[in-house]
Amino acid sequence: MSFQKFELHEKILAGVQALGYKKPTPIQLQAIPPIMEGRDVMGLAQTGTGKTAAFVLPILQRFMEKPLGHIRALIIAPTRELSEQTNEAIGELGLKTKLRSTTIYGGVSMYNQINRLRGNVEIISACPGRLLDHIERGTIDLSHVEVLVLDEADHMFDMGFLPDVRKIVKHLPKKRQTLLFSATMPDDVRSLALDLLQNPVNIQIGHTAPVMTVAHRFYSVPMGTKTALLKDILEKTEMESVLVFTRTKSRAKSLAQQLDRSGHKVISLHGNLTQQKRKQALDGFRDGRYEIMVATDIAARGIDVTRISHVINYDMPSTADAYTHRIGRTGRASKTGDAFTFVTGDDIGLAHSLKRILGEKLQYHSVDGLTAEIQLSPSKKNAVDMKSSKRRKSFAPHMQTGRKPKQRSFQNANRSSWSHRSQSAA
Ligand code: AMP
Repeated sequence: MSFQKFELHEKILAGVQALGYKKPTPIQLQAIPPIMEGRDVMGLAQTGTGKTAAFVLPILQRFMEKPLGHIRALIIAPTRELSEQTNEAIGELGLKTKLRSTTIYGGVSMYNQINRLRGNVEIISACPGRLLDHIERGTIDLSHVEVLVLDEADHMFDMGFLPDVRKIVKHLPKKRQTLLFSATMPDDVRSLALDLLQNPVNIQIGHTAPVMTVAHRFYSVPMGTKTALLKDILEKTEMESVLVFTRTKSRAKSLAQQLDRSGHKVISLHGNLTQQKRKQALDGFRDGRYEIMVATDIAARGIDVTRISHVINYDMPSTADAYTHRIGRTGRASKTGDAFTFVTGDDIGLAHSLKRILGEKLQYHSVDGLTAEIQLSPSKKNAVDMKSSKRRKSFAPHMQTGRKPKQRSFQNANRSSWSHRSQSAA
């Protein structure tokens, strides 16, 4: 089925086409019709499934014929990155419409945001804390909101934002459409959904298990050997762009420095960076200036880089849900990816739980010293076998070889690269 079936306005379809979306993803197929009918929707969907367009397209459609100049849709997201990404998607999908959108989040000038709000926008993509500041100062008028979207509600819960969300909702008109998206359904999110959604259509995309287009591999490794193992993997494995997760900000920073010293094009992303530095880091990773990003969980929320080929959990995440979210960074919208996790003695408990969830998808490797023998997942293996005459491209640092390895062009590692890659995946 194509997007034409939704009977979206031609100006909106132009945006869909410009992004190269050929076919709706499963969540779009299921969510767009009820949202267009004005129903409340509770969507249980992982990141990378195309859920942003699933709610943005009906919102654009709804406002096409309406008078402009008031905030009519409010999208609440846990992180600045996700707010920016959603705002970007609105800008791209709604390029040909007259609808205007902006972001509201902390860490940047309040004054500029007030000015933008005075410029009459219709759609706001906001993080809870700064939005509440605006509400309390009376610098935002939410009295015309018709659609409320709570995106990544489980992350908002993780980050302690649910009380703020409840406060914000009190300032919205009671008569409105409410959409809630979450990758997992902790009790607090379920009770929020019960309170806010009226007779919702429930949509569940896949299981809340980590993305199934991803190959999962655990490496049993002593704590002190992790960095050496990581370097070994980076050198021996064919990779496009790699997201490495650490548990702490300081470790993200120091690991990135170590990889940098080994000649890798690497950047770190963690909560101690200013908003400007975070943006620079993300842009650099997206456009391929950096091949590796070392990030903490919170900083990495909402990273939308479509060609992350590998997620490496240098440190084990703290919960199975956190694993899902990290892994959601690769294998986005049905592409394949690999997820490597370093498991130390302290992580065995969670490793066993994940083993149960992942089942046959999980390969378990014991690492003797540094001999990390990477076995490719079947689909990739076939692809490699087909070009067996060619030597496998390594991810060796440039400084060691003195030249940039072939096929390490990252120029297309951005959102627009979807257009050609998605044709076969969609
Ligand atoms: P999301 O889950 O909304 O973060 O989307 C994940 C990625 O999938 C984004 O890069 C989107 O641009 C892309 N995407 C969304 N819908 C489609 C589609 N129908 N076809 C191809 N790519 C899509």
